Amino acid sequence: MNWEEKVRKVVPYVPGEQPTGSGIVKLNTNENPYPPAPGVADALRSMANDYDEMRRYPDPDAASLTQALADHYGVKEDQVFVGVGSDDVLAMSFLTFFDSDKPLLFPDITYSFYEVWAKLFRIPHKKMPLRCDFTIDPEAYLEPNGGVIIANPNAPTSIYLDLDSIEKIVAGNPDSVVIIDEAYIDFGGKSALPLINKYENLLVVQTFSKSRSLAGARIGMAFGSAKIISYLKDVKFSFNSYTMSQDAIRIGAAVASLSDESYFSDVTNRIVKTREEAVERFKALGFSVLPSATNFLFVSHSDRNASDIYNALKEKNIYVRYFNSPRIDNHLRITIGTPEEMEKLYNALQEVLK
Ligand code: PMP
Repeated sequence: MNWEEKVRKVVPYVPGEQPTGSGIVKLNTNENPYPPAPGVADALRSMANDYDEMRRYPDPDAASLTQALADHYGVKEDQVFVGVGSDDVLAMSFLTFFDSDKPLLFPDITYSFYEVWAKLFRIPHKKMPLRCDFTIDPEAYLEPNGGVIIANPNAPTSIYLDLDSIEKIVAGNPDSVVIIDEAYIDFGGKSALPLINKYENLLVVQTFSKSRSLAGARIGMAFGSAKIISYLKDVKFSFNSYTMSQDAIRIGAAVASLSDESYFSDVTNRIVKTREEAVERFKALGFSVLPSATNFLFVSHSDRNASDIYNALKEKNIYVRYFNSPRIDNHLRITIGTPEEMEKLYNALQEVLK
């Protein structure tokens, strides 16, 4: 009767709702409102022709995808690791690199999965308070630690930390692994990727889910020194040899090798333009808006409760993200949609705020 005592008990991460149905404006999970590059449709068609290949296990090294990423980002193949979305890459990285009695450091307001993994893997951790304006204080990450993880730009704050500050944190922690989670880097900031050739202890994690419109394909990647990547692979291959499905490998390789960079920059530019317009529209509606380098805004209203706005929007079939957590329980995280979706949001907000 005591079997439950022996169960590993965790409080899981709760992702944003995925409502189905027509007429929904979905601005709650930072998905890209535009379709993926045309190469994805070609890859899917060729997969339909080759469906017999599904009898086989996929390539455990996902070499075609790794090679395409190495070529695309100008790094060596042994500096690339791929996984089932960056969540998988990050979880494997926590398991691999954070095995110390000293605490793993991350901001008190950041991607809430970090704390879930730290608890799951029983990694001691310490939340470092963001400043009052929600920016990261780089100096705080120089105290003794068992590792550092920083989302840059940070989420849900949307704020970007300059590359010099990131380098200070990496250089100041030669005895720890520093992970920079760049899920949103393509919408504004400068990537820390070039620093992987300078610092052996740096791991840069990115994803196809946001800027490349492929959240459904589950493709994430990490870049680092050959040594750091080899440690990550050892743990991954001690866990599951075949993490990437054959179709994800093919879709990812198609997109990464695609010379269709103009499609990619067109989509990200469009989102950035809509974001800049959105900042003004939100301010006109009485919201304060944090400076965003991402595909979402983090806003709060001086007179109206964020949870009330969230619920009122939901009744109108408009989904945004609300976090009932300390310091941010009067904020909303709103993904940038198409201009048409944003117009529906502004109209709804006008009614809600009346
Ligand atoms: N990091 C951050 C900061 C995120 O917001 C997300 C998206 N929820 C992820 C990582 C994971 O994204 P994915 O697993 O789709 O690559």
